[in-house]
Amino acid sequence: MKLGAIEAGGTKFVVCIGNEKGEVLERESFPTEAPEKTMENVFKFFDGKEIEALGVGSFGPIDPDLTSPTYGYITTTPKPGWNNYNIMGALKERYDIPMAFDTDVNGAALGEATFGAAKGLDSALYLTIGTGIGGGAVVGGKLVHGLLHPEMGHMKMIVREDDKYSGKCPYHGTCFEGLAAGPAIEARWGVKGSELPEDHPAWDLEAYYIGQAMANYILTLSPKKIILGGGVMHQKQLFPMIHKYTQEFLNGYIQKEEVTTDKIKDYIVYPELGDNAGAVGALALAMSVVK
Ligand code: ADP
Ligand code: ZN
Repeated sequence: MKLGAIEAGGTKFVVCIGNEKGEVLERESFPTEAPEKTMENVFKFFDGKEIEALGVGSFGPIDPDLTSPTYGYITTTPKPGWNNYNIMGALKERYDIPMAFDTDVNGAALGEATFGAAKGLDSALYLTIGTGIGGGAVVGGKLVHGLLHPEMGHMKMIVREDDKYSGKCPYHGTCFEGLAAGPAIEARWGVKGSELPEDHPAWDLEAYYIGQAMANYILTLSPKKIILGGGVMHQKQLFPMIHKYTQEFLNGYIQKEEVTTDKIKDYIVYPELGDNAGAVGALALAMSVVK
């Protein structure tokens, strides 16, 4: 089966052709420019390819509610030109095939649950810690939606006493994203995270915030696996510290060996699909409308 996938990111678009095994057969990427220019590149890639279905995992916020008049829109983004842009309308007009539309992180969660680190599990959480922090969740085999879609990167956090940084989120200051996304690390320490040495105190503080968030997500969603991706998680030394802080914040309340013992290293993990999680996730979204 020939499937199309779009990972619509705020900085770049990745388009690909793949199959139901999650294999990417052809792939291209280009910077996210004004919608019309960007869609022109999308059409150039897919025209004549005769894909049977298309999955779109998008930066947000988006409207993924099929019954809503603004279904398929990227909604309140500050990104120039993209505010209230009907991306699925533009695609539907061009290609008369089944399509799925969701957040990039919901796509990645479905991708990891179908082909990656959470393969075979009906419950998983995927989190990206990059320019922003976003989470997608599979619960009972289905992606979580609701009023809108989860925006779990914006939960409020307890700020550690020694951290004097006021937080980067324009809405909440010291929410998880405001304290721990890439731009917050850079603003707090004055250099990009990728330039901080592996043993810099920045990483212990980062793990403290990620561990705190993990505990909250475990208590709320009870995921069977948590997958942490995004640029900041290239700092692999964070994992053992995150495991430790997650256990400290849970404080023994959840009596499951996945979190109480060192099995936690197989419970909170790096994405198996690596930096392909977004694209393969969009393929999984495409699969979900043809099955
Ligand atoms: P995006 O979130 O825009 O899709 P990424 O997931 O690559 O993209 O995240 C980019 C953010 O991650 C930037 O803030 C960048 O400084 C940070 N980042 C990228 N690589 C690293 C690294 N090796 N260590 C720490 N931070 C990194
Ligand atoms: Zn926020």
